[in-house]
Formats: sequence, structure tokens, C-alpha cells
Amino acid sequence: MRIGVCPGSFDPVTNGHVDIFLRASKMFDLVIVAVFHNPNKKPLFTMEERVEMLNLAAKDIANIKVDSFSGLLYDYVLQQNSNFIVRGLRALSDFEYEFQRALLIKKIVPEIETIFMMTSNEYSFVSSSGIKELAKFGGPITGLVPECLEEKITKRIREQS
Ligand code: ADP
Repeated sequence: MRIGVCPGSFDPVTNGHVDIFLRASKMFDLVIVAVFHNPNKKPLFTMEERVEMLNLAAKDIANIKVDSFSGLLYDYVLQQNSNFIVRGLRALSDFEYEFQRALLIKKIVPEIETIFMMTSNEYSFVSSSGIKELAKFGGPITGLVPECLEEKITKRIREQS
């Protein structure tokens, strides 16, 4: 079984992420969306909330499983019996970081391939941080995040501001 892992913070999940999940789901038998617990970041949404929101966002994609992990990504990927990391690319600025990270993982675990998917045109400007900034100042996030999560995301961001 071919398994792809889509790791990220997903704080919160956006339509740009969902677009990558959907496209990855056509390439793999199973896509594991893995929320990374980053001890250096203070997320807006708890790990449990992010997992719950991802489950709702991906509910129509049959071959997706949502999980969470901490520690080394390549250890997690191997534990899941996968050899593939799927990452999205939006801009040249993403490339620099992703390029280094992919090569580092390749050096440590040569059997793991990092696969990059170019963002879809309509989501190239969508990021979790952009959504948070927009909603904080009362801007509309319609069409940028899954419809079923729009209210929850807007409410939380405004409460925290
Ligand atoms: P991280 O903190 O690991 O960058 P993110 O939650 O910001 O995690 O993003 C997870 C993955 O989704 C990354 O590979 C990122 O490049 C990709 N991604 C985020 N937004 C978009 C988008 N609008 N289009 C395509 N890929 C995206």
C-alpha cells in the first residue's frame, strides 16, 4: 500500500491545504495528514482542535487519516510504513526552506522521498498566518477556509485579539 504523509502545523487548516490533500489522495492509497507538535510555536488552536478541524475539512476524502506527532518527521513517516512526504509549494520563499529540509531528510534516510506539489492558482496567496491576520481585523475569510469551519475560526481569532 502506497502511503503519503502530509505534515504541517495546520493552525488553522485552509482551502490551500485541502486542495493539496485532495490531489495527494489521487496519488496514494492512503494519505496521512499529520499535525506536528512544535514546542517552539504557540498555536492558536490546540492539537485536539486542529485534528478535529482537519477531520471535518477532509471528511469527503475517503482515503485520508488525520493524526498528530511530535519529534522527528522521518521517524514518524517510517513508523507509518510510508516513504513519502508530501509538501505544498506556494512561492520561491517556500522553496528555499523546503529544499534544505528535503535534502537533509534524504541524507539521513535515503529511502524517503519528499514530493512537492505546486499550489493551485486560486490558493497561492492563502496561508494560516494570513487567515489569522485577516480575521483579526474583521476581514472576510469566506472561500479561504472550509465553509464548515469558517465560523469557529473567525470566532476564536476575534476572541483572542
Ligand atoms: P508548516 O508549519 O509545516 O509550514 P503549514 O500548516 O503552514 O505547515 O503548511 C503545511 C503544508 O501545506 C506545507 O507543505 C505548506 O507549504 C503547504 N501549504 C500551505 N498553504 C498552502 C497553499 N495555499 N497552497 C499549497 N500548499 C500550501
